Formats: sequence, C-alpha cells, structure tokens
Amino acid sequence: MKVTVLGETRADEHRVALVPAGVKSLVSAGLQVSIQSGAGEEAGFRDAEYEEMGATIAPDVSAALDGAGVILKVAAPDTAEGSDEVGQLSSGQALISFLSPLTEPDLVNRLAAAGVTSFAMDQIPRITRAQRMDALSSQANVAGYKAALLGADHLNKFLPMFMTAAGTIRPGKAMILGAGVAGLQAIATARRLGAVVEAFDVRAAVKEQVESLGAKFLEAEMEADAEDEGGYAKELSEDQHQKELDLIASHIDTADLVITTAQIPGRPAPVLVTRAMVESMRPGSVIVDLAGATGGNCELTRFGEVVVHNGVKILAPTNLPSDLPYHASEMYSKNITTLLLDLVEEGELSLDFEDEIVAGTCITHGGKVVHARTLERMGQGGSA
Ligand code: NAD
Repeated sequence: MKVTVLGETRADEHRVALVPAGVKSLVSAGLQVSIQSGAGEEAGFRDAEYEEMGATIAPDVSAALDGAGVILKVAAPDTAEGSDEVGQLSSGQALISFLSPLTEPDLVNRLAAAGVTSFAMDQIPRITRAQRMDALSSQANVAGYKAALLGADHLNKFLPMFMTAAGTIRPGKAMILGAGVAGLQAIATARRLGAVVEAFDVRAAVKEQVESLGAKFLEAEMEADAEDEGGYAKELSEDQHQKELDLIASHIDTADLVITTAQIPGRPAPVLVTRAMVESMRPGSVIVDLAGATGGNCELTRFGEVVVHNGVKILAPTNLPSDLPYHASEMYSKNITTLLLDLVEEGELSLDFEDEIVAGTCITHGGKVVHARTLERMGQGGSA
C-alpha cells in the first residue's frame, strides 16, 4: 500500500505530517512511502533526507495522490475557495490528519460523500495504549513552551533576577491559568527563564505537578473537585466560577506575564481574566491566551490579533506549534506513524470498529459518518 504525505496548503502551517525518521518505520512495515516534493522544507526536512530513508518524491499533488491508499497531513483539508483539498481525494482513500469533526460538520459530510475513510488526530482516546498517538498532547507541549517564549519576548522587562553593578533586577512574575499539558510546559519554561511562577487549575490533582516544577499552586475554596472521569475539567457553577475569579483577581495585578490555557472539551473556554483584571495590571505586562480558538480565557482576547488595552498586550496566537515546526513535526510524525501502524496488518489497512482507537478516531467510512460523538453532535444519534 502506498502512503503519501501531502504538503500543507495553509499559509500559517509550517509543520509536515511525517519526518524522514518516520519513513523508515513505515517502510519496515512493508509500506511504500511517497512525499510531495518540498512537503518537509518549511519544517527543516529536505526531499533528499526522505529519499535516503526509502521514500519516493512525487513532483506534485496529483502524482502524490495517484494510487495512494493512505494520505497523511497535519491540518484538516482546506475547503476554502481555490483550494478544494477534499475534491482531490478519491473514494476508498484514507486520510489521517487533524479534523476537528465535532465543530466542522460540513467538512465531515464532504469527506463522507467523497467516500474517504478519515481519521482525526484530535480524537485519539486518552488511554494508555494510545499515549504515543496523542497529537493533542504533543502539540500542546510545543504550544506551552512557545507561549512562555513569546510572552517573554513581548515583555518590556527581564524575567530572571539579575545582580549587576547597575543594580539588582527583581525576577518577573508569571501566572499560568490552566495547568494541563500546555500549562505545565509553560510553567516549566517560565521557570527556566527565571520567573517566579504561580499557577491555578480547577483540577486539584495538578497541585503536586505544579509544585514539582517549582511553581506555587493557588488554591481556591472549591466545594468539589472539578475533574470528570476522563481527567478533563468540568464547567464550574456560577458560584464556584466567582470564587475562582476572586482568587485570580487578587494575584493578577502583580503578574508581568499571564499565560492562559484553560479549556473544557466541547465547550467555550471559561473567561478567567476580565476587563477589570486587565486594567489592574501594570502597563507593559503581557497576556498570552492559548484558548483563543474556543473564545479565549481573557475577556478582551481577539483570536489571531494583538490587543493593547491600557498598555497591557493580549496575544492570542492561532497556531503556535507551527512556529516550532521541526520538533512539532517530529512529535506529530511519531503520533501519526504509531496510529497508522496500529491500523495496518500485512501492509494493508485493517479496521476493527470494536477497537477503542479505531472507533474513537475514524470519522467517515464507506460513504457514511461513523463516529459516535460526531453523529451525536450532528443530532444524528450515536452514543458518546
Ligand atoms: P485541556 O486542554 O482540555 O485544558 C487545559 C487545562 O485547563 C486543564 O488542566 C483544565 O483542568 C484547565 N481548566 C479548565 N477549566 C478551567 C477553569 N475554569 N479554571 C482553571 N483551569 C481550568 O486539558 P489537557 O491539557 O489536554 O489535559 C487535561 C487532562 O488530561 C490532564 O489531566 C492530562 O494529564 C490528561 N491527559 C491524559 C492523557 C492520557 O492519559 N493519554 C494524555 C494527555 C492528557
């Protein structure tokens, strides 16, 4: 079976789905690998490196797609006018990429109508067996690291303490809201940059992890732990949310850098930083909001823009992992090859819909939407 890697078409996407090291593992499993020429260039991987590992280079998209059984990508197919990526696929081909099926019903319906078997890298179940496939985690790690660097870069001051002949510089204070995968990496990075770090999360379970990174965990008087069975946060009651806002307000006025990462799966992001809180911060302070795609954690966030309010900069980057494309691609490549090899038997795709990973990630198959949560979101039944 031919596995093909397409170049990314969106202007802000610099990652590639497969790095040269990944070619080797697929070839060893009896697969043929084809790379669209230049697909890895922006991430730092040349065609020649893929060839050395046993891939063939396809001069363009149609050559890459010709005869391909599986197509690997990072971003979901671009359906914008002039870039009909779904239209280029043929019935019976399989696509593995990010798809956001719960929020992109039109794309899902088009993939089903085209007869494409699609797998969403953002729907990998969070079970031990699938940890090496977990692209949300790998990319959240990259985003958390880059958010701390980006914030530091926009600050008007140092983060570390300095003792110089020209005086002693006190360390900057960073506040991280949401201590999941991205938040923990942001804490670790801000600490490495020398900041004094405080963090808050509604899930009490993360206190120990936050403290082990050398940060202070801010505790609110929560009635019950806000963690669901899957390890994710639940939406808070109004009263609980108010307590959380009071806690944040009492600490944020002395923060130089605030990084927010709080998300609730399938829900809009909770607002944790209000306009009044921004106005309590010193001019020159920076907020990096990683929840911009789901509405933002800061009331003043505008996704993809830099807002300056009373001298405080609020950044809501759209695709931070793509700003470190080399390692983000390396990690994504490991995730996607692990999933693909799990789906392949004797060189061909072999799908067992009783398997938690197949049922959790396969969105369309045989001309239909087959993913229970997506069907439920579309109002067409299925059980989540
Ligand atoms: P996420 O991106 O959904 O959310 C980020 C963080 O925001 C979470 O820690 C969440 O608790 C927090 N948050 C939500 N609402 C908040 C609020 N109102 N105030 C403050 N914080 C709030 O989560 P994530 O980073 O993807 O991970 C969530 C959990 O899943 C973690 O426990 C993580 O360890 C776990 N996880 C498990 C696996 C696995 O088992 N394979 C893989 C990855 C992550």
